[in-house]
Amino acid sequence: MQQETMREVISRKSLEKRVDDLGKEISRDYAGRDLVLMTVLGGAFIFAADLCRSIGIDCSIDFVRVASYGAGTDSAGTIRLVQAPSLAVAGKDILLVEDIVDTGLTLQWLCRYFRRQEAASVKLCALVDKKQRREVALEPDYVGFTLDQGFLVGYGLDFAERYRNLPAIYTLQDEAARASKASAA
Ligand code: 5GP
Repeated sequence: MQQETMREVISRKSLEKRVDDLGKEISRDYAGRDLVLMTVLGGAFIFAADLCRSIGIDCSIDFVRVASYGAGTDSAGTIRLVQAPSLAVAGKDILLVEDIVDTGLTLQWLCRYFRRQEAASVKLCALVDKKQRREVALEPDYVGFTLDQGFLVGYGLDFAERYRNLPAIYTLQDEAARASKASAA
C-alpha cells in the first residue's frame, strides 16, 4: 500500500472545541423547532456523531448519501441520490451536516432536493469551507473551519477509503494533492 506524506492542519483539540461551539450555537438557534440533523455520508459521519452530542435540544438524526460522477478527488457536478432519508422530511427543519463544501455543487443539489420535499427550512452546516473553490453561490450557515489548501483526510475524511479513522485533520502531500489540483483544473 502506498504511503502519502501528511501534515496536520486541524488538531484533535481544535476539532473538539469548534464542534462543541457549533453544537451550542445550533442548540440556541433551533430551540423549540423540529430539527433533523441530515448527515451526508460518508465523510461527515464522525463530525455528525460529535456534533449531535454537543446539541442539547431534542432532535432527530438521519442520513443521505449522494454519488457524484467523474474521476478525481472532488465532485464533478453530476449528482444523484444513492441513499434517501428514512424520515418524512415535510415540515421539518433540516440541517444538512456535511464534511466539506468545495465547489458547492453537492450541497446545492441537496438543498434543492429537500426544498422539493417541502422541508420547513433547509440550512447547511459544514465542518470545512473551501470558500475559494466555490462554483455556485452558496454560503453554509454554520462553518467549522475555512481552509482552502490541500486535500484533507482524517476525522471521517478519506482518500480512497483510507484515513477516515485518524483523530485529527491532515493535508495529503504529493500524489493526492496533485490529483486534486489536476481534477480541479
Ligand atoms: P463539492 O460538491 O462541494 O465540490 O464537493 C464536496 C465533496 O467533495 C465533499 O463532501 C467531499 O466528499 C469531497 N471533497 C472536497 N474536498 C475534499 C478534500 O479535501 N478531502 C476529501 N477527503 N474530500 C473532499
